[in-house]
Amino acid sequence: MRSALIALLPGMAMSAAAGQDGPVPVTLSYAHRLPALEAPALRVGDECFLPVSEAGRIGWTVESDGDEARVSVHGLVVETFIRDLDGRPYLPLRTVVEAAGGLSEWTQEQRLQVYSKITRITVKVDRIEIEGTLPVTRSFLVLDGPKRVAFDIKAARLDPNDPPEVTGEVRYAQFDPVTVRVVAQVQGEPNVSQVAGDPARPILRWTGASTVPIEAIEFPPKPAPLLLGEPILEVDTEERTVIRLPFQGPAPGKLAAYRDPDGVFWVDLPSGERLEGWQQTSLRGRVVLSAELVERGGGGLRLRLELERPMGVHVSARDSELVVRLVRAEHAYGSLAEKTIVVDPGHGGRDAGAQHKEDGERLDEKDLNLAVARIVADLLSESGSTVVMTRNDDYHVGVYDRPEMANASEAHFFISIHFNSNPTPNSRSGTFTYYHSDDTDSKLLAECILGEISKVSGLPSNGAMSDYTVHWRGEKKGFAVLRSIEMPGVLVEIAYLNNDTDRKRLLEPEFQRAVAEAIVKGIEVYIGNEA
Ligand SMILES: [Zn+2]
Repeated sequence: MRSALIALLPGMAMSAAAGQDGPVPVTLSYAHRLPALEAPALRVGDECFLPVSEAGRIGWTVESDGDEARVSVHGLVVETFIRDLDGRPYLPLRTVVEAAGGLSEWTQEQRLQVYSKITRITVKVDRIEIEGTLPVTRSFLVLDGPKRVAFDIKAARLDPNDPPEVTGEVRYAQFDPVTVRVVAQVQGEPNVSQVAGDPARPILRWTGASTVPIEAIEFPPKPAPLLLGEPILEVDTEERTVIRLPFQGPAPGKLAAYRDPDGVFWVDLPSGERLEGWQQTSLRGRVVLSAELVERGGGGLRLRLELERPMGVHVSARDSELVVRLVRAEHAYGSLAEKTIVVDPGHGGRDAGAQHKEDGERLDEKDLNLAVARIVADLLSESGSTVVMTRNDDYHVGVYDRPEMANASEAHFFISIHFNSNPTPNSRSGTFTYYHSDDTDSKLLAECILGEISKVSGLPSNGAMSDYTVHWRGEKKGFAVLRSIEMPGVLVEIAYLNNDTDRKRLLEPEFQRAVAEAIVKGIEVYIGNEA
């Protein structure tokens, strides 16, 4: 049992705010899993506050006394403070993680990833033993030519300033941002078994082979740095803006921009470094209120763009410059009153969608979809929009008929409304919005709607995602309702039917109304009516 007492003063954890003021519900990834929290963790500034009542879900025990707490983090005791938010006691999770020797970073505005720091690696004749500061998830693989055993530790980081103590013949590297890979070379046919041990100290053991001195093993080479110069604003009109970023080094792979709930656009440049002689400048133009390169959590740089109105953002690399083109998105002008909008309540009739059964009662997704869709339709009608509903009662409509109705009505927007479910109850929570493939305008609409929902739902916001990220029997095809629409379209998965917290919320009429209002507000933000 390790023991240490680390006293921390309230306020110590509150470093630079990241454009977020009030508490925002967030997704927490701990030990490479998403713990099911009954009350969500909240982001305030750069800190992540965990309800004291939820600490047990990540294996922490808390003894509190007024505004002080002693938190037992896998055998290590950390003294910290308690903060009251909305009348409920919270722990400063990032502060406690850091005091326990772990690491954490915001990988998205509303997603905190916690990492164990690997402190010791031991390789013996028949095993690899890892020691870290926090629990991890582990897996292994056996590689051929030469025969090697690879132990992958997920939710783990190597600290270049404080490398692990290593005993034995071994190679190790930060394989990807969340995985530390440890490799031993063996002679024989290893029959591998994992030994759980302590969740922060995984052991991989094998029979039938013994460790031998290691030969050169290729790890994926670290990408060469992308050396960036100052951004240049080339064109900046109401319709079209071009920003150029000169760079040296190999051209980066696929780049993408995303819009956060506060309306700030970001382009992640994980291998980005500043060119020598680089000066911090911020551009300002007509649509561009500011454009600057800022540090990225976890290394690299990010381009931060504040715009006068939402725009479709296209990023490409050519020759020796990155080109960021901002284009006014399709139908992003005027007002709701000029628009025809298709509201599509998912499923219906014999297709109930997701279901939840409890005490003989059955909850069908199709009914919830219709309830929210009707509110959305009413709100849009009140704003003067022409509304087309793909169904307005409990009957079946085919997934190909829905986009056809949208195309036939020459609609400006298509909004499909769903609730989610997954195989493991209480393992996921919150909202996703989906757009088709890599359609920039639909992505922007998905981000605008998600941003507004996140402000009212009280549930985590999981991201605006391409429907290609959902594989259907191993195939990337996208969603049938989005695939053939000829206008910007979004499928909203509001919350999880099989999550106790989500279900309690989604049954409340106030919640349904607030989400419906947020969907309408999101369309208005996209159009450019609302800041
Ligand atoms: Zn559905």
